[in-house]
Amino acid sequence: MADEIKKEEEKSLNFLEEIVEEDLAAGRYKSILTRFPPEPNGYLHIGHSKSIVLNFGLARKYGGKTNLRFDDTNPVTEDTEYVESIKADIRWLGFEWANEFYASDYFEQLYLFAEELIRKGLAYVDDSSAEAIARMKGTPTEPGTASPFRTRDVETNLQLFRDMRAGKYKDGEKVLRAKIDMASSNMHFRDPLMYRIKHAHHHRTGDAWCIYPMYDFAHGQSDSIEKITHSICTLEFVPHRPLYDWFIEKLDIFPSHQYEFARLNLNYTVLSKRKLLQLVNEGHVSGWDDPRMPTISGLRRRGYTPESIRLFAEKIGVAKRENLIDVSLLEFCVREHLNKIASRRMVVFDPLKIVVSNYEQPEEWLSSEDNPEDPGTTHRQLPFSRELYIEQDDFMENPPKKFFRLSPGQKVRLKSAYIIQCDEVVKDASGKITELRCSYLPESKSGGAQSNMKVQATIHWVSIPHAITAEVRLYDRLFRVEDPANEAGDFKEYINPDSLQVLQAAYAEPALRNAKFDEHYQFLRKGYFYLDKDSSEEKMVFNRTSTLRDTWAKEQRKDRPNP
Ligand code: ATP
Ligand code: MG
Repeated sequence: MADEIKKEEEKSLNFLEEIVEEDLAAGRYKSILTRFPPEPNGYLHIGHSKSIVLNFGLARKYGGKTNLRFDDTNPVTEDTEYVESIKADIRWLGFEWANEFYASDYFEQLYLFAEELIRKGLAYVDDSSAEAIARMKGTPTEPGTASPFRTRDVETNLQLFRDMRAGKYKDGEKVLRAKIDMASSNMHFRDPLMYRIKHAHHHRTGDAWCIYPMYDFAHGQSDSIEKITHSICTLEFVPHRPLYDWFIEKLDIFPSHQYEFARLNLNYTVLSKRKLLQLVNEGHVSGWDDPRMPTISGLRRRGYTPESIRLFAEKIGVAKRENLIDVSLLEFCVREHLNKIASRRMVVFDPLKIVVSNYEQPEEWLSSEDNPEDPGTTHRQLPFSRELYIEQDDFMENPPKKFFRLSPGQKVRLKSAYIIQCDEVVKDASGKITELRCSYLPESKSGGAQSNMKVQATIHWVSIPHAITAEVRLYDRLFRVEDPANEAGDFKEYINPDSLQVLQAAYAEPALRNAKFDEHYQFLRKGYFYLDKDSSEEKMVFNRTSTLRDTWAKEQRKDRPNP
């Protein structure tokens, strides 16, 4: 049954796939061309990955291509650092673009389009101030009023527009507007702005321009210049679509079509570059790639894999209505993948010393599977000796009834080693436990006569003389409320003060010494971990990618009264 449902899901197309299949079947296009159009004013976040998987995925599925187009029409906020990070992130996600374009490459062509609309009597230069234009715009229920400059003749408009380009005017002194309908029920039709004056340096065109096209004029025309067939954007652009079509129709250029889907919203975080930038600039996080950030670079540093992010994007599907996705789904996806690929290691975070009193050998090396989920797993060698560390909380001197791990007189199995029994609790003068004296069952290791002996629990451990230390960084959600952007006051008031916990020295088995960036680890019973870029020759640093289970959800349930 579950299999059938799964197959059913695989078969059903999302609405964009349906559109593409229909277009191809009807022979409207020989092949499709999509584009991913980031504005280079910040790092990509998990929301963008949704759009990337959609655009590149559609093209891949139907044998088409995807352009990467930097939407760099706003000179003030853009930076080449962002351009580079965006390219690296898309490649890391597993996609390659057919062409790397910049909207700024089209500035001359866009300018010529604008002159053409002026010549057709469909655009005019307006001297009104921004406030006056806003005032004359009307409201959704009241028509707007015409600007006194609306009736300028073609020649005057052409001259003024050329003067705008030539730098004769200051910022805000004039704008170019499309001449459409000041009474339209669609506010975007009430003579929308096409160009504004901005004496600013652009990251690619330098000082060549002091007028810059507005999004609505630049975007559709850029799509058309590239002959994009399916221009996919988020729902807030639905009311812009008639304008998108209007420019294309009036200019009589390649008819790209715009389609809209619901943007990804994720709980316990913010997905707006402006807000993420504030977190970076105000030092709430260590940078765009802080492992708590919902950025692609943050997720990568934390130990997310491209596979897990693509799986997530596919699981949430392509919706036409706004919704808030539970971040635990993203965590589920990363566990799914890491469970298959992570190498198992034992690491003790909060050590309690064990002396195995009847263990007389100096040491021995035991073999343990790197990954029991992998049928072709390799094995690593694990040192065992007389002195071990286990976790403090795997021992209780006075255990409650259901405590199955170590306590006086009780046995546990040490993973991939022996069964031990606690014989004595050693304390210092203040009554604090300093170590446990245990005995081991020599026949209890794998292959031995007592290897099948039943004990209630298996715990992880490390051999003290062989242990290496590493710093471990444990992350929790960056915000303590589901939807910080929509709470009263500033979203930063809702930052979770406990989102980062640093363990300066955890004790690890020596196999972890050669940790690599292309390897993911499961620290047994602790979660999935990934080497951090702060690691050095002297000190390894690990990020917890995720816990092994959805402990957060459990905590949340605990807080609620039982029904
Ligand atoms: P932000 O709100 O983070 O500033 P943006 O829409 O301004 O996002 P762009 O760089 O313009 O960012 O986005 C590039 C592409 O990614 C656009 O097509 C946009 O629709 C898409 N995109 C941005 N955020 C999301 C999201 N949360 N979910 C899905 N797609 C998104
Ligand atoms: Mg944008």
